[in-house]
Amino acid sequence: MKEINLASGASYFRSPAPAITVATKELEAGATGHGSAEGLPELREAIAQRYKNDGVELTPEQVLITPGCKQALFYLFSTLLQDDDELLVPTPAWFGFQQLMDYSKGKLVQLPTTAASNYTLDPADLREALNERSRILLLTNPGNPTGRMYTRQELEDILSVTNDFPNLYVVSDEIYDFVTYDGAFSSILSCQGATEKVVVTNGFSKSFAMTDWRIGYLVGSPELVRKCTGFQAATIAGVSKFMQKGAAAALQERDQVLPPMLEVLQQNRSLTEAALSQIPHLLFFLPQGAYYFFPDISYYLPCTTPTGAILSSSAGLCQYLKEAYALELLPGDPFGAPGHVRMSFAIETEQLTEALSRLKKALHELVVSE
Ligand code: PMP
Repeated sequence: MKEINLASGASYFRSPAPAITVATKELEAGATGHGSAEGLPELREAIAQRYKNDGVELTPEQVLITPGCKQALFYLFSTLLQDDDELLVPTPAWFGFQQLMDYSKGKLVQLPTTAASNYTLDPADLREALNERSRILLLTNPGNPTGRMYTRQELEDILSVTNDFPNLYVVSDEIYDFVTYDGAFSSILSCQGATEKVVVTNGFSKSFAMTDWRIGYLVGSPELVRKCTGFQAATIAGVSKFMQKGAAAALQERDQVLPPMLEVLQQNRSLTEAALSQIPHLLFFLPQGAYYFFPDISYYLPCTTPTGAILSSSAGLCQYLKEAYALELLPGDPFGAPGHVRMSFAIETEQLTEALSRLKKALHELVVSE
């Protein structure tokens, strides 16, 4: 049986042709000297312009180009967090945030949200959780692994709570912002109540299928961007210019390069929704953005496999699916949601269809303990 990987966070698409053409040309022209720490003016300008189109007042000085969104987050954590500070994260959330905190000061505090309430972050719960040690509220919009997209109203309700805490930054990781299915995406930057303490991190890995280019950015106040630029200058100097040129080309051509990918994802999302609906006792939220389903498989735990093995966790189930069905999914535990699995639908439709039929068969064969 050929292995099918639904565990990866990267889509199967090729990077956009304009990005490849431009970056290659730059390399061939020998444009490999040092650039500036904050990034190429043309890319910073293109990013600022993209938010300006949505009515956000922004200058290129408020944009820092980083080697990936993850690194942008690391600069923020390193710059803003002191020993006793708290980073508040609505969960389920991407496990990378905890990994970054393993190398940062302060601690991560989970704000649990549930599928039963559509992963809504209740402003009253948020207010309750905030205190004088709260330094960053980190939102992911659209969410990984849930695919939950915040509405403008929800963001404004959140901001009306956070604005009562002058020490608090609100960081919105919007790396899946162009990968949305239902309704318009609102960046937190475009919301009423967004102050200079609101920061966005973003990148080209997801929307533009440019994962290994390692290119991202952060948008914040000029003062915060200066601080993070200092960190970048002292550590990695800056991001390769030829890649920034490629990224700028992708961004400029987004109306051409994004729709074909989104069309496949839209189709794959429907296909996955239909297949999962046919599996008894599998509960799931229909993602509004990003490219994952995050079904609740707790009905099936614990259970016994056809060969008599007992599975008692989502990690055990994932291990079993890998060994018996050559199907790779990710357990929900590192996302703060035991009893769930994350499955990407950003793979070839044919493979996805096969993966879903393997999953259905595998779960059907399990004998669930009463
Ligand atoms: N944020 C989220 C929510 C992600 O899912 C990922 C990748 N899995 C990243 C950031 C990392 O992005 P990059 O590749 O730009 O570092």
